[in-house]
Amino acid sequence: MNTMTLEQFHAALKAQGVKSHIDFAFVCPMCKTVQSGRDLIAAGAGADFAKVDKYLAFSCYGRFTGAGSSRKEPDGNPCDWSLGGLFQFHELEVVTPDGAKNPRFALATPEQAQAHAAKHAAEAQVTQ
Ligand SMILES: [Zn+2]
Repeated sequence: MNTMTLEQFHAALKAQGVKSHIDFAFVCPMCKTVQSGRDLIAAGAGADFAKVDKYLAFSCYGRFTGAGSSRKEPDGNPCDWSLGGLFQFHELEVVTPDGAKNPRFALATPEQAQAHAAKHAAEAQVTQ
């Protein structure tokens, strides 16, 4: 288990080197897809970052696209996993100043986060 204070967590997000908090990226512990606020918004979880913030790093965006449960082997598609369930498979806990331990998806590496942000930027250009 990787435990971080809120400060360390924020520093790690900043270290991903993406332009906006909407591109902060995490890895679902079950389906291993890299995901950010953009995926949650695109999946219909909420209209903007403030609305999807509570799902980020907690619920796989596949929950909002009707994805099935995780396959035995990651196939690049999302799943319906959420850390709020009975089984706990999270790899990261963020400890807030009140001492509460908040389970979160593992952080994507800076390389993964930047590649993911670039992928979304490329898709946005195609659809505009
Ligand atoms: Zn997933």
